[in-house]
Amino acid sequence: MADSVNALPFFYGNITREEAEDYLKQAGVGNGSYLLRQSRNYLGGFALSVLHSGRCYHYTIEREPNETYAIAGGKSHRSPVDVIDYHSQEMDGLVCLLKKPCNRPKNMQPKVGPFEDLKEKLIREYVKQTWNLQGAALEQAIISQRPQLEKLIATTAHERMPWFHGTITREDSEPRLQNGSRTNGKFLIRQRDLNGSYALCLLHEGQVMHYRIDRDRMGKLSIPDGKKFDTLWQLVEHYSYKPDGLLRVLTEPCPRPDGEIGRPLLPRDHPGLSSALSRESRHNTTDNLNPYETRVPSNQAGSKEAMPMDTEVYESPYADPDELRSSTVDRNQLFLEDGELGSGNFGTVMKGIYKMRKTEKPVAVKILKNDDNNPSVREEMLREANVMQQLDNPYIVRMIGICEAENLMLVMELAELGPLNKFLQKNKQTTIKNITELVHQVSMGMKYLEEHNFVHRDLAARNVLLVTQHYAKISDFGLSKAVAEEQNYYKAKGHGKWPVKWYAPECINYFKFSSKSDVWSFGVLMWEAYSYGQKPYKGMKGNDVMQMIESGKRMDAPMNCPPEMYDLMRTCWTYKADERPGFTIVEPRLREYYYDIAQ
Ligand code: ATP
Repeated sequence: MADSVNALPFFYGNITREEAEDYLKQAGVGNGSYLLRQSRNYLGGFALSVLHSGRCYHYTIEREPNETYAIAGGKSHRSPVDVIDYHSQEMDGLVCLLKKPCNRPKNMQPKVGPFEDLKEKLIREYVKQTWNLQGAALEQAIISQRPQLEKLIATTAHERMPWFHGTITREDSEPRLQNGSRTNGKFLIRQRDLNGSYALCLLHEGQVMHYRIDRDRMGKLSIPDGKKFDTLWQLVEHYSYKPDGLLRVLTEPCPRPDGEIGRPLLPRDHPGLSSALSRESRHNTTDNLNPYETRVPSNQAGSKEAMPMDTEVYESPYADPDELRSSTVDRNQLFLEDGELGSGNFGTVMKGIYKMRKTEKPVAVKILKNDDNNPSVREEMLREANVMQQLDNPYIVRMIGICEAENLMLVMELAELGPLNKFLQKNKQTTIKNITELVHQVSMGMKYLEEHNFVHRDLAARNVLLVTQHYAKISDFGLSKAVAEEQNYYKAKGHGKWPVKWYAPECINYFKFSSKSDVWSFGVLMWEAYSYGQKPYKGMKGNDVMQMIESGKRMDAPMNCPPEMYDLMRTCWTYKADERPGFTIVEPRLREYYYDIAQ
């Protein structure tokens, strides 16, 4: 949303109400001229300023819980632009119809708020410190979780500000303000309790004034009877440009004493650090995303939704240099539990615990059934292990090792919520945003495979396993192949027992498999995801599907599928492999759409 709004010529970014009035009056466009600006008190919200009979009127466009936008009490719309379009036809409570946009002066870009500048740096530092990540793991975490991280940072960024002094008492705060310069308007904020109540301490004529900042039921912050804000830094920004009820405007931040400045952003408060919580969320099968999550106190922010990095399978267990990296697992360290996770031609998959040097990992163990008559199954499993061993990505199930004991066993990371298609069949209330988040993660894993010259050849929703409702991993590398960089495709010797409905035309016609044919399968996987785990080409035989594809027909969009996502599926089903995009194009398209709806 932010990007598309930024491109509007009448969007001014983070300007004040007074600046908006100046622009509208100077433009001299007359009654009904309007501009859009960023809300300075509601996260993700906007403000509409309108000129009528020489006066300016300002309306807050709030972002609503279900990702729609509305002027308080008014009709909901998909975007702020739709709100404007609507009010250019209907007054519906506005002072007049919106007639003419007041465009930004030439060469003026939308104004970037002070927080925007800080944001990138803060996100990076936060991820680094909280999850101890670096390199590719850090980059992947930021890409896949940007919307959640932005919310988290927005609600905790004040802890980085020099004026935030943490939980000090009223008595402690006074000498801090009285020391050094005694400029009128010098200020600090202290935390009063853990329920999100703070105090603004302000120096005025040599005296320290203390204003309570309370949080209401919706999580909004305000001094008594004052304007409401989503975050402390927005509150400070507001009172720094007008007193609005305070004795005076905030001028100079009172710095924290030496050593406290630049403290890390509260990693201790991040709920994800508690593995108990992340385990709990693994069992959580409903979409419990609270739309007001951005507005709850920072020490509770995001407490309902664990991120991939909070789980034990974001990084390889061997990322820890103290763990012995070995492709074989000692049977004495492996403890199998009762109950099957699944089964296949090869045998069964059981849950287990693998005791490593430092930690114990819950694992999934693929156990080959003893079938002396069929040595090829053993070879197949070893081939699968060989491929998996070469891969290391957060969105791909990792192999921990092979264990040769009473049976041949493939020990893998555990993805306890199981296959995506089954999960969605059972959890129809899963939101489109949640589905898009998962599908985007799959595209990240596939982009990694493409970059490393592997073709999966069995990409389907049944082979995407969920670690949590918000964390997907690609699995089942039984058919996967490494391909030569120059040739970049694998030529099968003949037709096998193939998942034809997921296969691109060149796989079936020429036995040719490449990342481009994985892209075709990815389109089918998307269709499965947005149709909540339905079977593709339902009731059709493989031959009929092939004929349908050859005749240029494709599956219809699943019910309620966002048009942007159906459009992407259709692109994945481009007949000619050469004209079909690769994952380097598919992944950013999904990313962009996900950020748009998740903001
Ligand atoms: P085949 O290899 O013959 O095609 P398959 O595709 O059914 O068999 P897998 O997908 O590897 O075999 O595993 C079968 C089932 O076991 C999965 O559908 C899933 O429910 C469960 N399973 C497999 N790997 C894991 C894992 N890492 N974590 C949790 N469950 C798993």
